[in-house]
Amino acid sequence: MTSKTASKTVDLRDLRLEDARALLGHSEQVLPDVKGGVRLYLQAVIDKLCELSLQDPLTGLANRRYFNNVLAREIEVVTRSGEPALLLMLDIDHFKIVNDTHGHPVGDLVLQAVAHTLASCIRPIDTLARFGGEEFVIILPNCQGCYGLQVAERLRQSISVLAVPIAPKQTLSVTVSVGGAYAPRWVRSTPELWLDRADIELYQAKKEGRNRVCIEAQPVMSVSPEEKSLLFASLDMDDAAWTESLPKGGSVGSVGSSGSTLSGVN
Ligand code: GH3
Ligand code: MG
Ligand code: MG
Repeated sequence: MTSKTASKTVDLRDLRLEDARALLGHSEQVLPDVKGGVRLYLQAVIDKLCELSLQDPLTGLANRRYFNNVLAREIEVVTRSGEPALLLMLDIDHFKIVNDTHGHPVGDLVLQAVAHTLASCIRPIDTLARFGGEEFVIILPNCQGCYGLQVAERLRQSISVLAVPIAPKQTLSVTVSVGGAYAPRWVRSTPELWLDRADIELYQAKKEGRNRVCIEAQPVMSVSPEEKSLLFASLDMDDAAWTESLPKGGSVGSVGSSGSTLSGVN
């Protein structure tokens, strides 16, 4: 150890780092040499543990924990800026049959290939995560209404033409159903409500025959009854920040409910 002070105050054996080191070693994370300094070493352990805790080990994508954080942050952005943000949920169709027919390891290969393809189709500012099982989610900030369907359709098509090599001279193809919903602009929603609305569209896409996209019409100053109660419960009329956050000419009184749904392509 280069720093005598550090070595006096921190004895690595007291910190019981064995489990953390084993975990990082197992995931092939490279730690700096402890001789470079205890502080640097511990910082690297913390950073890499954080990285691991936010990543899906199978696909290398962000995991649900990371996604939840980004989703909550995006709601803040949309509330303040009115920027249109789209949430997409993608679910591999009939994936159970892939596992049942070819085995779980082949199913894993398919999940990795789908993840890789989705990642190659999005912008750096978008957040792609494995939501769980054979479901993926994408947050697309600053996505104008007219592009949402195009983007989702491009993702769907990219997966449908994907040929996953599963054995010598054997490939496998899958399709995805996609549901999408925009965050209500200028009003505060919750991650749960936003997710629910995308999930309803995903369910609709499945119901209509799978391998298709359903996106809810972009709500314009629209709120659901739940969102409305949340909005008014937290509304402090003296709060200048709230007043300033309203769009020009907008008012709480102009909030209405659209409820229309624009479904699908194909
Ligand atoms: P649907 O079109 O309605 O979505 O049908 P589905 O078969 O895709 O849906 P279902 O929920 O019946 O099956 C999902 C399957 O995904 C079952 C589960 O074993 C499999 N699965 C979940 N996680 C993993 C994983 O990490 N690896 C593999 N190989 N399979 C997984
Ligand atoms: Mg599913
Ligand atoms: Mg599925």
